[in-house]
Amino acid sequence: MPADHPTPPASPPAPLLDTRALEAALARFADERDWAPFHTPRNLVMALTGEVGELNEIFQWMTEAEAAQAAVHPDTARPVRDELADVLLYLVRLASVLGVDLDEAVRHKLVTNARKYPVESSRGSSRKSGA
Ligand SMILES: [Mg+2]
Repeated sequence: MPADHPTPPASPPAPLLDTRALEAALARFADERDWAPFHTPRNLVMALTGEVGELNEIFQWMTEAEAAQAAVHPDTARPVRDELADVLLYLVRLASVLGVDLDEAVRHKLVTNARKYPVESSRGSSRKSGA
């Protein structure tokens, strides 16, 4: 770049995950019901785990072929969506209550995973890293 055109300051990267509107909606939902006192980190972790369990129940005992169709099969399409939403809602609420920036956490974890599983040694392998 020519000297008479200085490099513009780097702008922050666009977020991979912008949960601000959802965090606000969840806070409003809890505040309207005076549920904020119940939304402690411990309670939210347990609620999140319960919702993951409900998602697990849908897939339990399915064949791989049935599981691959779970989001489109008439019997399970709605329940899959409902439980995925429940997991996301509790996850976002938990992060919000803890003051965790999920976008930063996700970005950091993607970098960590890329270092932990280099393409050259990980391609086609399901082997888990020791760390
Ligand atoms: Mg549920």
